[in-house]
Amino acid sequence: MDPTPAPAERSPAELLATPVQFVRGVGPQRAEPLQRLGLLTARDLLFYFPRDYQDLTDLTNVKDLEPDKLVRLRGTVAEVDSRVTNAGRFMLGVLVKAGAGFVRCMWFDQRWLREKFSVGQDVLVTGKVRLKSLIWELVHPQVTWLDTADDEPGSAAQMLPVYGLTEGLTQGAMRRMMRLTLDAFVDLLDEVFPAEHLAEHNLWPIATALRHLHFPDNREQLAQARRRFVYQELLILQLGLAVQRYRRRQASSAPVIDVTGKIDARIRRLFPFELTAGQQSAILEIAADLRQPVPMNRLLQGDVGSGKTIVAVYAMLAAIAAGYQAVIMAPTEILARQHAATLGKILSHSQVRWGCLTGGSSTSERQELLAGLAAGTTHAVIGTHAVLQQDVQFAKLGLVVIDEQHKFGVRQRASLKQAGANPHYLVMTATPIPRSLALTLFGDLDVTTIRDAPPGRQPIHTYLAADEQRERWWEFVRKKLTEGRQAYVIAPLVDSPADAEATDAAEDADRPEGDSPKQIASAEAVFEALCHGPLEAFRVGLIHGRMSSSDKEAAMAAFRDGRTQVLVSTSVIEVGVDVPNATLMTIESAQRFGLSQLHQLRGRVSRGLHPGYCCLFTDEPSPEAQRRLEALSESTDGFALAEADFQIRGPGDLLGTRQHGLPPLRIADLVSDRAELEEARQAAQAMVSADPGLSDPAVSKIRRMLLHRYGRVMDLGDVG
Ligand code: ADP
Ligand code: MG
Repeated sequence: MDPTPAPAERSPAELLATPVQFVRGVGPQRAEPLQRLGLLTARDLLFYFPRDYQDLTDLTNVKDLEPDKLVRLRGTVAEVDSRVTNAGRFMLGVLVKAGAGFVRCMWFDQRWLREKFSVGQDVLVTGKVRLKSLIWELVHPQVTWLDTADDEPGSAAQMLPVYGLTEGLTQGAMRRMMRLTLDAFVDLLDEVFPAEHLAEHNLWPIATALRHLHFPDNREQLAQARRRFVYQELLILQLGLAVQRYRRRQASSAPVIDVTGKIDARIRRLFPFELTAGQQSAILEIAADLRQPVPMNRLLQGDVGSGKTIVAVYAMLAAIAAGYQAVIMAPTEILARQHAATLGKILSHSQVRWGCLTGGSSTSERQELLAGLAAGTTHAVIGTHAVLQQDVQFAKLGLVVIDEQHKFGVRQRASLKQAGANPHYLVMTATPIPRSLALTLFGDLDVTTIRDAPPGRQPIHTYLAADEQRERWWEFVRKKLTEGRQAYVIAPLVDSPADAEATDAAEDADRPEGDSPKQIASAEAVFEALCHGPLEAFRVGLIHGRMSSSDKEAAMAAFRDGRTQVLVSTSVIEVGVDVPNATLMTIESAQRFGLSQLHQLRGRVSRGLHPGYCCLFTDEPSPEAQRRLEALSESTDGFALAEADFQIRGPGDLLGTRQHGLPPLRIADLVSDRAELEEARQAAQAMVSADPGLSDPAVSKIRRMLLHRYGRVMDLGDVG
């Protein structure tokens, strides 16, 4: 049989699979470097997107030049000369012919630049011009070599694509091959979207979009071309998440927890205060979920101090009233113990049996609790990740609450999932996941947001202070302590600054890197200095992650009861700790903390009826740290700060897609493409609810693409 049938007989798909060496304009010589880039077929080439563009729009015309104006000129190198001036400086002069005129570019003391220029090169220069003996001159302009040597001669393109290259390939050659490949193959590509979908979402058809993605005439065209691929990529991702969610709802059954009016009233009677409107509606949404035989999977987000704990307690008591067991998991022992204390007060006269389980629990305590949980005679457990251990078994687990979920790894969450038979899940966070990320990573998660705060909250004042202002700050602190308030003082390290490892590492996962540890404050040193200095007249306590459980608890209890007025701490108290009388927060070496950490720390002191004050001291912050600190002092809104953090750090640094086990996105950017993300999510949800198996022939190509990309990682099986 003839292995290469006549072209007329080959299908578009077969043609697109043409090996690069047989693509016109490539040839065997260039095929080799292309293959090194992983580009084996004509189709691969078409989808090799530019990594950047050289923008030749908005160029200046030589005849319009004016002294001291910033200009962008495109031209051809006409002459290169260099010499050493009388003063002994190396001088490079490059004469550029730009349109009808000439400009002279000059560099001093940059010998290495000499060999970068040769006559005939196409360049883009940007800088300020001055008129020097009848010729326009640019001193030290920015220069871009346009690499058009092997490109189409005389190409008048306004935006030049820049491709990732490898040895043996030039930009010009790559562009030329790309043009030829587009001409010969782009119309063979199959459109995955039905025509109505394209129209409805204002998307260009594949061939038009691809052509202009490689060779846009201007920025608007590029944006429109890019939009098509961004949308497509995000739609496929969101479809995967929507199918996953649909299947989860179909497959797993959860305990039906009916929160009757009687139960609701019984629970509310236990609470020491009226619920806020935000808490009320959160409870309504949660109760509606619990009634369904489908596991709840809900994220409850609310800024620090918005009162999430009581909502969790409500859900827990509802589960217990329906005859099920519940777990509340907190990221630190201090927080678990605090929740236990809160619950102890609320349940002091109730029949509910519950226990607290942390790494610091004694063996006998632990054994008794585990026996009760396994037998079903104990209704609830509050704990740290200690509740995840193998031997913690539940007779009838109905609800899992994870507090401060951003402090747990994704994997920890998963391993708890397997602990019981499809319990309901409520995860809580005060560090809201920026919406665009939440949609991507937790497309299958329902979100409830508490936007209000308990009544009577006072504003919080934030100061970025210089060292000279220390004395004044401590004076202010002394005054407030004398009035009866309490204060936290935070330092990043536990002890000796020489030992950079002495942080409370577990709570310090998102601490930014990159500054020298020599002058970083440590809790022990700060404690000593305050006790023998500015706060010597006051009762000062110390807490950090390396103290024993009982010492930590004693230190926390002393502060809570007001026996100590000041608590010097590491970031162990970062999340959840709730002492409403504490209104002063001092953070030493604040540059060492991430933005969400700083916001959490500050959140410790705006929880009662008195205004809060937060003072940040820093040593030589990096520019990025400076931006974080300024962002913090400008806003007290955790949602806005989470967005700012996302902008400063970029999506990769937060819970990236990769950490979630998903392949990286190729073209979409979660920060800048959020409009498309939202649009794609809505479209995906509509598609899946109308046709859960995506079996409509009109979407068969989308379905195939989905399975190809996410079938395995998302375990989509055959979809539907
Ligand atoms: P977070 O959302 O940060 O977990 P908490 O649940 O710890 O907040 O609540 C913060 C403080 O506000 C606690 O002292 C709590 O008792 C109090 N609080 C919560 N809800 C209300 C309310 N509806 N009315 C009055 N105080 C409340
Ligand atoms: Mg909390």
